[in-house]
Amino acid sequence: MKIEECQALYDKVISDLKKALDQDSFEALSLEGKKISKFLNGYIYVVADDEYSLSRINKFYLSLINGFIKNYTSDTILFKFLSKDEMQTIINREEVTPVSVEKNLDEKYRPGNIDATYTFTNFVVGKSNKFAYTYAIQTAENPGKHFNPLYIFGGVGIGKTHLMQAIGNYMLDQDINKKVLYIEAKEFCDDYIHACNQSQSEKQKKIDEFHNRYRDIDVLLVDDIQILCGKDKTQEEFFTLFNFLVDRNKQIVITCDRPSVSLDGMADRLKSRFDQGLTVDISQPELELRLDILKKKIKTLSNKSDVPDDVLNYIASSFTSNIRELEGALKRVFFYSVFNNSPITLELAKEALATLIKAQKNANKYSTSSQTYENIQSVVSAYYGITVSDLISNKRSAKIALPRHISMYLIKELYDLPYKKIGSLFGGRDHTTVISACEKIENDLKTNNELQMAVDNIKKKLNI
Ligand code: ADP
Ligand code: MG
Repeated sequence: MKIEECQALYDKVISDLKKALDQDSFEALSLEGKKISKFLNGYIYVVADDEYSLSRINKFYLSLINGFIKNYTSDTILFKFLSKDEMQTIINREEVTPVSVEKNLDEKYRPGNIDATYTFTNFVVGKSNKFAYTYAIQTAENPGKHFNPLYIFGGVGIGKTHLMQAIGNYMLDQDINKKVLYIEAKEFCDDYIHACNQSQSEKQKKIDEFHNRYRDIDVLLVDDIQILCGKDKTQEEFFTLFNFLVDRNKQIVITCDRPSVSLDGMADRLKSRFDQGLTVDISQPELELRLDILKKKIKTLSNKSDVPDDVLNYIASSFTSNIRELEGALKRVFFYSVFNNSPITLELAKEALATLIKAQKNANKYSTSSQTYENIQSVVSAYYGITVSDLISNKRSAKIALPRHISMYLIKELYDLPYKKIGSLFGGRDHTTVISACEKIENDLKTNNELQMAVDNIKKKLNI
């Protein structure tokens, strides 16, 4: 299609949209009279005015707009709205080979469960995620070549899924015919169990289907692999699939909430496969990154980006570890301001976030950071007038054994940590030692008033 024809099509479709919407909603999108930027591989590219209108177009109006196309042509053509930066990336990558048109671009999901909203362009880069980001791009550019698998790990809500999906989007942007498959490990597991649970006559067919689904691909993105811990049969299946794909130079990307060495209940041969590529971690987002993410997010929430710095600082310093919560907090402040029809000020933000922050404090009380365990050890040691190094030493005197047992008991009771892990917090003691210590304290507490009082006092000191 010639560029003039694309422009004519755009103008007609936008005038249909104008008729379908009320005047304010239509004008807020600033789509009328726009010049289209490019026609490539069946997409007509249009650059939106700003991130706010772009996010509204893509979220609410894209399927409507693309729906109007069939009034004018039977060709498979779709509009794609994007930011100036995204358009520049496409222009820089001019030599894209002709490919078939993606059918469901008007939906949030692209083929292979790829969520179109998670891209490299809208991933904000800072110190804590730079390494992971760099290698994710390299992997997307050279799939199956350098790092297989790419293993990304880190805590909850810090961008693992986003980065993984960005790899998928990048590859589809390069070549829409690439077979990229994103799957949560849980879904893989359910899928496999489902295939195995068929009647004898159906089973082989279902297992073959299962194999085809996962083997006939170019890139496999597996999210939250830790779910496979303890699931031996599924692990075996995944091991076979892993080797099948890697042997054929098909790229695998894995995310996990911890490094592979800490995957208790994962077969050693799988763990060593995970280590054979490249492991990158995303650590807790630093303040600067949190602020940058908030600033970027504001642009998609409103066309007026006048959030005072003290409000941004307040949000960024209240929500420190989870970017999903950080973004949620910002949205809440926005809604609160609209709802109450008052401007965004520090007072308003504090009011809007009071319950969230309180809930977070409670959650932190039970958080499982190693600092928390150390805190228990130091409070108990101080209570009994010994040092933490005594507590974790080999000394066996009763003066030291009792506080040691109480500390183990409290860590188990409050955080339900595996016995083995608790043992490691006490100089690498065996898990059976920890089990007997916990049982002893639990039993003694039933009858020993002095011990009950001590444990109560310690809990008070721990604010529990
Ligand atoms: P995880 O998989 O690590 O639990 P997600 O990838 O689901 O976390 O991220 C949680 C939310 O935070 C998502 O909405 C994601 O887009 C956003 N997010 C995380 N990291 C970034 C980043 N660096 N830039 C922009 N958004 C981010
Ligand atoms: Mg995730």
